[in-house]
Amino acid sequence: MAYYLAPSLKSLRDELNAAHPNRDRTSDGWIGDPAHAARKSDHNPDYSASGVVRALDVDHDGIDKAKLRIRACADSRTEYVIQDWRIYTRSNGFRAARYTGVNGHTAHTHISLRHTKAAEAAGSWGYSSGAAASPTPPSSGGKSVTVVAGEVIAGKWGSGADRVNRLQAAGYDARAVQAEVNRRLSGGSAAPAPAPAPARKSVDQVAQEVIDGRWGNNPERSRRLQAAGYSASAVQAAVNRRLGGRSANRAVRLDVGTLAQQVINGQWGNGNERRRRITAAGYDYESVRAEVNRRVRR
Ligand SMILES: [Zn+2]
Repeated sequence: MAYYLAPSLKSLRDELNAAHPNRDRTSDGWIGDPAHAARKSDHNPDYSASGVVRALDVDHDGIDKAKLRIRACADSRTEYVIQDWRIYTRSNGFRAARYTGVNGHTAHTHISLRHTKAAEAAGSWGYSSGAAASPTPPSSGGKSVTVVAGEVIAGKWGSGADRVNRLQAAGYDARAVQAEVNRRLSGGSAAPAPAPAPARKSVDQVAQEVIDGRWGNNPERSRRLQAAGYSASAVQAAVNRRLGGRSANRAVRLDVGTLAQQVINGQWGNGNERRRRITAAGYDYESVRAEVNRRVRR
């Protein structure tokens, strides 16, 4: 069956091309490569809906990426947007959330449509028109950092992570604003201001997420943990501690045969939970399963 880019995303791409005829399209993309095909991705054609592709990647060079993000988040056809290590999701009111995937989307913005027929409909995204789809102009326009910093000090932008999210959603560089705020509050000294620290989870929290299957499997899991700033070995140690229960230190690695026998004995639970626990403990689930099948079949 043939596949095709959703007409709505075609409209968006046409609009960007018209606004920036010389923009760099190197990181553009829409149809899934083999890596995408191996997992669930809106870049893969939905053959249950006549082969529509519901995702578009747009290269950051030569466009106003803040404006693109703001327009996309304001559009009724959008499900989520990923840009610069942040994900903006409809179900989360398009508030900025830390993106924990491997690719931080710093070279391109990803836009996914809702899985509805209406979301596929062609039509303007308001990128090139001056129409105010958003109350705030994009980063380069709008207010200066000095003005926004004054507003922050006056309490108009809230506090903490919420403030950072709101500033970014409005297209401002939250770090630059924070630096200016710090500079003023410290009496105008030009000392470099610390950037607001992103919310960090404890190793134990992340270990629990690993056990819950939220960080995938190795070796990808280690890469993702490191990319997110965690020590993969510290997290793995915490995972092993948790899964090991009383026998705190699981320094001894089990061979596949022993592990398979334990599975057959029921020591690792069943179904998805078993898969989660085995992979969380750092073993390759597929080879364990193959060994279990081999033994059981005999
Ligand atoms: Zn993408």
